[in-house]
Amino acid sequence: MFSVKGYGAIITGGASGIGLAFAEALAEGGARVAILDLDSNSLNLQVNRLSAKGFDVRGRELDVTNRKEIDQAFAHIAAEFGKVDVVFANAGIDPGIGFSNPDGTRSQEGAIENYEDERWDRNIDVNLNGVFATIRAAARHMKGSGGGSIVVTTSVAAYLNEGMVGAAYMAAKAGAAHLARNAALELAHFNIRVNAIAPGFIVTNIGGGWLKQPQIQKSIGDMIPIGRIGSADDLKGLALFLASQASSYITGAQIPIDGGGSLG
Ligand code: NAD
Repeated sequence: MFSVKGYGAIITGGASGIGLAFAEALAEGGARVAILDLDSNSLNLQVNRLSAKGFDVRGRELDVTNRKEIDQAFAHIAAEFGKVDVVFANAGIDPGIGFSNPDGTRSQEGAIENYEDERWDRNIDVNLNGVFATIRAAARHMKGSGGGSIVVTTSVAAYLNEGMVGAAYMAAKAGAAHLARNAALELAHFNIRVNAIAPGFIVTNIGGGWLKQPQIQKSIGDMIPIGRIGSADDLKGLALFLASQASSYITGAQIPIDGGGSLG
């Protein structure tokens, strides 16, 4: 039903966490997968691990904030695959600072009046500008190749006030979410669908891996209606659905995957 067999797929930030789960899901489904990531060590490790399992996976080290590198990577991979059917604009960072700390105390460093330029700029650069560069490169290719599916990893922080992640992250994710809707409208006519996945709390390496601490997982799990924090594997089914033709009449959607955490 959610077939991606023979598809060419590009995943940014696919060397860890959610992007890695996307890469695994696509590869397990028979797609050819290219992972673009900044972290060369994790990239090599994961590409070697997945290749050893017999999957068709390759890696390319790049920074999504470098538009030239993105364009070159897309040209190279498109030539190698013949066609890129699916693109996940997933790479992202958590500035590791918000106006409230995970233990509920207030953060002076994350308060808006203390927010540092460098922290703001880097967050917007990766989480918003990087998504723009990836969607643009995907659109250029897919317009000429007959269409495809673009999936942006946003966050429930795109529409909820999440004190723990703070100003820059929320603004960037809200921007990326609206950019995805805008691209969906512009590109629908070209058989290109653009949707967003909005995760809640998912245990990954983000923010220095703070969600890996058992006491944090317990306190977050207690607040989530489904009763636990999420894992990257929880996102695999939705990724396959949005990549495949099973979702061919869905575009411009942002789907929360948060165990009901944003229900209020
Ligand atoms: P992660 O840190 O485990 O993985 C992120 C990957 O992106 C890493 O491999 C990292 O090297 C790569 N990356 C970071 N900056 C990059 C850049 N400039 N260029 C290329 N690659 C870069 O984190 P994750 O939790 O898997 O995050 C994936 C996406 O999910 C992000 O967009 C994040 O904002 C989003 N998200 C995560 C959560 C969560 O709770 N984990 C919640 C909501 C949204």
